[in-house]
Amino acid sequence: GRKFFVGGNWKCNGTSEEVKKLVSTLNAGEVPSQDVVEVAVSPPFVFLPVVKDLLRPDFHIAAQNCWVKKGGAFTGEVSAEMLINLGIPWVILGHSERRLILNESNEFVGDKVAYALSKGLKVIACVGETLEQRESGSTMEVVAAQTKAIAERISNWADVVLAYEPVWAIGTGKVATPAQAQEVHFELRKWLQANTSPEVAATTRIIYGGSVSGANCKELATQPDVDGFLVGGASLKPEFIDIIKSAE
Ligand code: 13P
Repeated sequence: GRKFFVGGNWKCNGTSEEVKKLVSTLNAGEVPSQDVVEVAVSPPFVFLPVVKDLLRPDFHIAAQNCWVKKGGAFTGEVSAEMLINLGIPWVILGHSERRLILNESNEFVGDKVAYALSKGLKVIACVGETLEQRESGSTMEVVAAQTKAIAERISNWADVVLAYEPVWAIGTGKVATPAQAQEVHFELRKWLQANTSPEVAATTRIIYGGSVSGANCKELATQPDVDGFLVGGASLKPEFIDIIKSAE
């Protein structure tokens, strides 16, 4: 089976005091064992070292982005090599906030995923449609194109978690219904089956993100192709522990 995966994307939030407090809360949380659920929290770059020092060892850490190739004269960027050097195992790539606000294209995100994997990082790769795209009936076309740009550039799917995050559900309180999430996850798995291999399709975790909360996670988690969550707002609260518990 596919091990349940819960990521907490802290986005651009927090002071050092708040981060330390959040880590204490997470460290005190009672959660299922690592055989049942894999957890990764994703602080802003500047807090990676302090979180690495203080966070319980059964929770992993993910950066929220990294540079597309080897470091050098790229002011303001952080390279995959630096994350590896710091002992950070995971990175989130292709979040819709970066695709839409920072204009990252499908191809650029695909290049980032390939480079990060080549350096030994594991990747949470995000895909998802806007409300306009959903309403025009192009949801599958959009997420397939986003996934294709990744699939064309990689072979090592064992180190990838695919996060389906419909843009209209992110930070809006408008969570996808379990049926809506399941439909896209099922289609994505079918896409992987046809375009990668049956093994990749069967083993790749596809997690859902967008207004996941302690109140709605249980029902979403019962869907056969929902293998976990990528949590934004609720990952900054004690509620994150309840979401991790939905793995059971
Ligand atoms: P919210 O949980 O705040 O909707 O954010 C989801 C998200 O973008 C996680 O990456």
